[in-house]
Amino acid sequence: MKKINIAIDGYSSCGKGTLAKQLAKQLGYKFIDSGAMYRAVTWYLLEHNIPVEDESEVAVVLPKIDIDFEINPSSGRSDVLVNGLNIEPQIRTMRVAEAVSQVAKLSSVRRYLVELQKQMGIAKGVVMDGRDIGTVVFPDAELKIFMTATPEIRAQRRFEELNCSGVDTSYTEVLKNLQSRDFIDSSREDSPLTLTTAYTVLDNSGLSQDEQFALAMKWVETAIGA
Ligand code: C5P
Repeated sequence: MKKINIAIDGYSSCGKGTLAKQLAKQLGYKFIDSGAMYRAVTWYLLEHNIPVEDESEVAVVLPKIDIDFEINPSSGRSDVLVNGLNIEPQIRTMRVAEAVSQVAKLSSVRRYLVELQKQMGIAKGVVMDGRDIGTVVFPDAELKIFMTATPEIRAQRRFEELNCSGVDTSYTEVLKNLQSRDFIDSSREDSPLTLTTAYTVLDNSGLSQDEQFALAMKWVETAIGA
């Protein structure tokens, strides 16, 4: 069967990763969480006390940040590695969440990561989620989905997720963080999150995970021509 690339973009904490993982599993495709790559760079900069607003300093260290993914055998999830070190738990902290959109504004960081992401999609059969996947990384993706939901629903889901994994935070802090990231991600100069007519919109405010998966699978079948 024909292999395609699927781009899933949208606001923070819309469940892009959940849908991307389900589709990748069903289709036998690779799932790539591009946000984890921006979070990994952010973690490295914070760890090495590199000021995230100083683009010239950031640009110098980028080549030293080797990013990879490995399947975690206990969760079945794909974990992110920086220079061989599994830093999956560290990139999900509020410390990283609060700095990542500043880092993602830097053109040198975007150029570095977009190049890696493009390479990952050359052979097709990739589901990648992020903010600029359908516009910049895979402009030729056969299916582009734009996910959205109300900020309150997104914050509640994200808060519950963080709470379950033991991160100490409040609903209000999570809501403020995702609204601030949405604003920075949509208004930055370099590859902002933009809804174009090439996307199929998926508002999952009132949908269960099963319902959204069924809907997306129909779009996939159309895109594959099955
Ligand atoms: O997807 P996630 O919320 O983990 O992404 C973290 C941050 O990384 C986003 O808020 C955004 O600032 C940045 N990002 C980006 N472009 C992507 C993926 C993520 O700018 N393709």
